[in-house]
Amino acid sequence: MELNGKKVLITGGAGFLGSHLCDRFVKEGYHVIAMDNLSTGSLKNIEHLFPLKNFEFYFHDVTKFVHIPGKLDYILHFASPASPIDYLKMPIQTLKVGSLGTHNLLGLSKEKSSRFLIASTSEIYGDPDVHPQTEEYWGNVNPIGPRGVYDEAKRFMEAITMAYHTFHGIDTRIVRIFNTYGPRMRLDDGRALPAFMKQAIEGHDITVFGDGSQTRSFCYVSDLVEGIYRLLLSDYVYPVNIGNPNEITIKQFAEEIIKLTGTKQKIVYMDLPTDDPKQRQPDITKAKEILGWEPKVDRAEGLKITYEHFRKVLNK
Ligand code: UDP
Repeated sequence: MELNGKKVLITGGAGFLGSHLCDRFVKEGYHVIAMDNLSTGSLKNIEHLFPLKNFEFYFHDVTKFVHIPGKLDYILHFASPASPIDYLKMPIQTLKVGSLGTHNLLGLSKEKSSRFLIASTSEIYGDPDVHPQTEEYWGNVNPIGPRGVYDEAKRFMEAITMAYHTFHGIDTRIVRIFNTYGPRMRLDDGRALPAFMKQAIEGHDITVFGDGSQTRSFCYVSDLVEGIYRLLLSDYVYPVNIGNPNEITIKQFAEEIIKLTGTKQKIVYMDLPTDDPKQRQPDITKAKEILGWEPKVDRAEGLKITYEHFRKVLNK
């Protein structure tokens, strides 16, 4: 492999998205440092990279001072619990990694003159009353609700990142990530896709929360990685939505997974979690115009690949 002489730090590098980003940057010839405290990430996601000369792993919590020897061209801040049950279990850590962690990494990027990209989220739009969500929409977030620890941490993360850009001239990028799926999601992370697939594979009923009329728009992980890669290398400093605008109700989504897996299980309806957003769909006009990006993998194809992966993981 031809190395390109550039060094990138990926925090949360052992997580679902972080590990796919490590793969991409390694493949492009970067020297990649994955940093993770393994609170939700797993070394299994990156063990195949350990033998490579252009890959290193630092076991570290970014809410503590972060040091990297030598030069550093890029920082991608992806460390954070990212599923509702995780941030409900770790509310303070979620707030700290988005605030103190981002502050430490901005300090590092100032010291090293690194370009800095943050993983923001569609959650900053809360339960949106503008639909689809454009980057201009300010959102509808309950700061003291159960999801507030994540949503407000990410909103603060955007604010401090823009402040460092404006006041210290840091070269920053902000990606707002919508629901993403694919291999290496944790089967027990509580999110709809791994929950439904695990239930189908293990022969349990499919748990739809509420009446299932709430919507989401699911993006396959390789499409997301491509969008992030392009944003990092672009010169656009304002937030950009990256997601697949193909919107579906959660009930329809459960039905698609039932059909794909051929399970005989049925849907059971359970209480809707507090502040669960009723609708979500990215407006990706900016990503198309600025990055020339749009998703390529349709849901049928992405779900099939993900299902095969989960079957292997569960030995079925
Ligand atoms: N959901 C569901 N059953 C589950 C897990 C989640 O019906 O077992 C619903 C959840 O209430 C939400 C949607 O699926 O309306 C997507 O939830 P997820 O946690 O995957 O993502 P997020 O809410 O963060 O978009």
